[in-house]
This record gives sequence, C-alpha cells and structure tokens, in this order.
Amino acid sequence: MIVINEVCINCDMCVPECPTEAIGMGPQHYQIEQNLCVECEGYYPQPNCYAVCPIDAVDIIADN
Ligand code: SF4
Ligand code: SF4
Repeated sequence: MIVINEVCINCDMCVPECPTEAIGMGPQHYQIEQNLCVECEGYYPQPNCYAVCPIDAVDIIADN
C-alpha cells in the first residue's frame, strides 16, 4: 500500500498527479484514500505520488 507520512508539508504537488483522485486532506496532512488508490497500475510505471513528492513523504509499504 501507499501511504503519506507525517513529514508531509501539504505542498499539494501530488494531489493533481494522482490519476484516481485518491489524495485528500486528512486531520494533519494529506492522506491517501486506500479504496481509491490503485498504486498507479495501468497509469504510471511507479506510484506517481511517490515520484513527485519532493521530501519523501510518501511511503511504499509491502503488502503482506
Ligand atoms: S499511488 Fe497512484 S493512485 Fe495511489 S495515491 Fe499515489 S498517485 Fe494516486
Ligand atoms: S507531494 Fe509530498 S509533501 Fe507535498 S502534499 Fe504530497 S505527500 Fe505531502
């Protein structure tokens, strides 16, 4: 799964880059709606939010 961590500064860069509009504001910072996130399969070669985030606030967590 792809998650936005607490380092996020709400810079907005990832929001328009998500093909499924899965990124929205949470209580403290942006977060990814897991029901909408497709991990960019079929859109980009890697998670696009991960690719565009300038400060490594997006984590790729291996599914168990
Ligand atoms: S991995 Fe892709 S689909 Fe999921 S939130 Fe990031 S940009 Fe959107
Ligand atoms: S690009 Fe990174 S720092 Fe900016 S809003 Fe998205 S997750 Fe947060």
